[in-house]
Amino acid sequence: MKALQMVDLKGQYQHIKAEIDEAVLSVVQSCAYINGPEVKAFEEELEEYLGVKHVIPCANGTDALQITLMAMGFKPGDEVITASFTYIATAEAIALLGLVPVLVDVEPDTMNIDPDAIEAAISDKTVAIMPVHLFGQCANMDRIMEISKKHNLRVIEDTAQAVSASYTFNDGTKKMAGSIGDAGTTSFFPSKNLGCFGDGGAIFTNDDELAQSIAMVANHGQSKRYYHDRIGVNSRLDSMQAAILRIKLRHLNEYSEARQKAAAYYDNAFKNSEFITAPVRNPNSSHVFHQYTLKLDKVDRQELINHLSDKGVPSMIYYPVAIHEQKAFKKVKHRVGDLSNTEKLTIQVLSLPMHTEHTDDTLEYITSSVLEFLNKKILI
Ligand SMILES: *Cc1c(COP(=O)(O)O)cnc(C)c1O
Repeated sequence: MKALQMVDLKGQYQHIKAEIDEAVLSVVQSCAYINGPEVKAFEEELEEYLGVKHVIPCANGTDALQITLMAMGFKPGDEVITASFTYIATAEAIALLGLVPVLVDVEPDTMNIDPDAIEAAISDKTVAIMPVHLFGQCANMDRIMEISKKHNLRVIEDTAQAVSASYTFNDGTKKMAGSIGDAGTTSFFPSKNLGCFGDGGAIFTNDDELAQSIAMVANHGQSKRYYHDRIGVNSRLDSMQAAILRIKLRHLNEYSEARQKAAAYYDNAFKNSEFITAPVRNPNSSHVFHQYTLKLDKVDRQELINHLSDKGVPSMIYYPVAIHEQKAFKKVKHRVGDLSNTEKLTIQVLSLPMHTEHTDDTLEYITSSVLEFLNKKILI
């Protein structure tokens, strides 16, 4: 068996090599490296796929968050509610603009932001809710949209881990992750579900006016060349990445199915273990498994990681430190309610290799390596 990896980018590339190589060469030969026709075509294809009116590409997923917050015109001191159990970028974009990240707890089962905690954190300074669709499934968007309407708040969905997931509202309406709130953001970092061969990101919205502001902020605040109406940034997706993403987008549903198949294999292997809780599904959301993240109970996590590592099985802790416990955020004023679910998760979670190239052999090897450790542990 070839060496196991958390994400098998090489295996995925081998399957689409001919298409990718041709597309890359064609961009090289076109010399339209920035804002070329590939970027426009990708924009339109992603709009179609997500069912949104506007896709505005940018340089990465962190920029996507920052640009969206800038375009919404929030002022320093305004509060944005987000989960403390997430990748740093979500809270970083808020803090960087002088806004106040209000970090709240997640649900212990889905690991997504807890709507009750959002409601409890709302103050007269709250301007937005930024749910993160963590590990590939949507947060409780029924409740989040309800809360946002009641309190007149903007909703920005951090969809960096959940592009291609869909959410079915209690009334039966179905929408793609990232197309539900005022805006959705994503990252095309290579290991994301829709990844390019470098950095990239995008913002989605159905709001014409907001789309215009976002495009302006991403392009030095200019509406017309050399006429700058506001302070912006320089954040672009280059043509080469767009060409690669156009190809990968055509395979995205098939990639999500491959991830779901691997997840089902893991689920089945672990279903009788009292030490493992497999990822709990939100019944309103599909799950596209950016990560397959276990919750461990009564297991020495570091010992398990070492055991797996000895067997050549990589594993990762997403995330070992919650945002409210990060050194950088100690001085950033934020109200901390009860974050015990988050704190417990940071010591319980472990993610196993998840990508589009698993075979029954790799999955069998990984799961039996995990179970071997747990069985041994029972004997002790
Ligand atoms: C990856 C990620 C980002 C940031 O994306 P970059 O392209 O690396 O800037 C933001 N939020 C979440 C939840 C992510 O997983």
